[in-house]
Amino acid sequence: MPSKRLGLFMVVCAPSGAGKSTLIKRLCAEFPVLSFSVSATTRPPRPGEVDGVHYHFLTRETFIAWREAGKLAEWAEVHGNFYGTPLEPVRQALEAGRDVLFDVDVQGAAQLRQSLGQGAYVFILPPSRAELSRRLSGRGTDSPEVVAGRLAAASREIAQAPLFDYWVENAELETAYADLRAVYMAERRRPRCHPHLIPELLAQWDAAI
Ligand code: 5GP
Repeated sequence: MPSKRLGLFMVVCAPSGAGKSTLIKRLCAEFPVLSFSVSATTRPPRPGEVDGVHYHFLTRETFIAWREAGKLAEWAEVHGNFYGTPLEPVRQALEAGRDVLFDVDVQGAAQLRQSLGQGAYVFILPPSRAELSRRLSGRGTDSPEVVAGRLAAASREIAQAPLFDYWVENAELETAYADLRAVYMAERRRPRCHPHLIPELLAQWDAAI
């Protein structure tokens, strides 16, 4: 029986433009016990992204070597680049009683269910197709073709939403954050995260019979 709390993990998926990054950043900032799983990727860094903080930026060769060596809990090709979750830091965090948050695509979420099993699988939904289209176009950074491609990808991803444990609709940021936070709070109360308390609890109540 472990002598302390076991960490839990949350897997958060969303179509591009649903507001996932903002929600995730806020949850990790509010709860220091919750750490973000830093993925490996072959895509080049965007301005402001730091190697080892936002991603481990790898060459295709190194990514394949990590994958072949079994260092990844899951991996997928997304928008022409490879993305994957390094396994060892996750194992260490969970064993040390820290919680882990994964930002992966729907393929990655399905694989994590296979490799890591029980956790909270959360899908962030945009309020409507029209609103997602408006948000993606409103960024002003992408061509109409790129926006159309993101909307098509969103349809494919939302088709997988019924497989998740929780839905959080992001129509309005504060409400969506309150919902995501509530999911995390509920997960923290699962007995499986507190195996060390079970003998003490049972012993106390046995003695009272
Ligand atoms: P971006 O390049 O915009 O940061 O991420 C593109 C997509 O890749 C997002 O849907 C993101 O959730 C997904 N992604 C990021 N890291 C991983 C990962 O480790 N595994 C998988 N399967 N997807 C990831």
